[in-house]
Amino acid sequence: MNVLIVYAHPEPRSLNGSLKAFAVQRLEAAGHNVQVSDLYAMGWKATLDAGDYPQRPDGEPFNPMSDSQRAYEQGTQRPDISKEQEKLRRADAVILQFPLWWFSMPAILKGWVDRVYAYGFAYGVGEHSERHWGDRYGEGVMTGKRAMLMVTVGGWISHYSARGISGPIDDLLFPIQHGILYYPGFDVLPPFVVYHTSRTDDARFTQLSAELGQRLDSLWDTPPIPFRPQNGGDYTIPDLTLKANIAPGQSGFPIHRRQRPDVCG
Ligand code: FAD
Repeated sequence: MNVLIVYAHPEPRSLNGSLKAFAVQRLEAAGHNVQVSDLYAMGWKATLDAGDYPQRPDGEPFNPMSDSQRAYEQGTQRPDISKEQEKLRRADAVILQFPLWWFSMPAILKGWVDRVYAYGFAYGVGEHSERHWGDRYGEGVMTGKRAMLMVTVGGWISHYSARGISGPIDDLLFPIQHGILYYPGFDVLPPFVVYHTSRTDDARFTQLSAELGQRLDSLWDTPPIPFRPQNGGDYTIPDLTLKANIAPGQSGFPIHRRQRPDVCG
């Protein structure tokens, strides 16, 4: 299998650097072909701007969506963007690895998503009609591929628990797991999260490696998070709200995961 690790940490000797090295070694030892996009080492350009589309028409206002679409369709994107798209096409599984910075991913990784997820590639795909609102949330160019987050977190696990002050980790990661990964069609595996990173010493690193190793060994058979497919019948189209008889009276991120039984009437 082909595994792509998109890695966002500026220091190779960091905890993230050690975990990434372990992951590559473990996956390769199991016979997988591993490719790493090490964004800081690559000097990845983090901002989407008009310079990404060198052949856009002179004098026209820059429109990130339509310029992205035109460049994608005409094959005139900057090569750094098309190379990453090609890596995604080739991958059977994608791991996004990063330290939690200000409750999200580092800007360089967000910039990778902004630029690589072109219109026509990761969004704006499929039939748009009264019964099918595009191939998205469970369908799209990444259908059949698996994705997982590997995240390190300075705070304690309790800070990110259901009643923790930082908010539940599943809620914080929802925009990434549901919005960035499930949207273009990935099956999203539960994240591998390391909390309280400052507590890491050799003994803990050994323990973390063992846990990560198990997650990597089961990359192909771990059940994905049961997000609800947009076009699977749970939502009304085109307003895209969960049908009234599903999870009645409930709201928030958790309703977009299937739980049985959650249908009334
Ligand atoms: P490092 O700092 O490199 O290492 C952590 C510990 O692991 C160190 O003690 C190190 O000695 C040890 N270690 C590293 N490698 C090994 C090894 N091979 N064997 C044994 N021990 C090892 N945290 C939050 O909870 N929420 C936030 O919103 C948040 N925002 C942040 C924003 C910014 C801009 C920054 C800089 C930090 C933020 N943090 C936040 C903290 C951040 O999540 C952690 O600092 C980060 O996850 C730690 O990962 P690292 O790879 O940088 O660890």
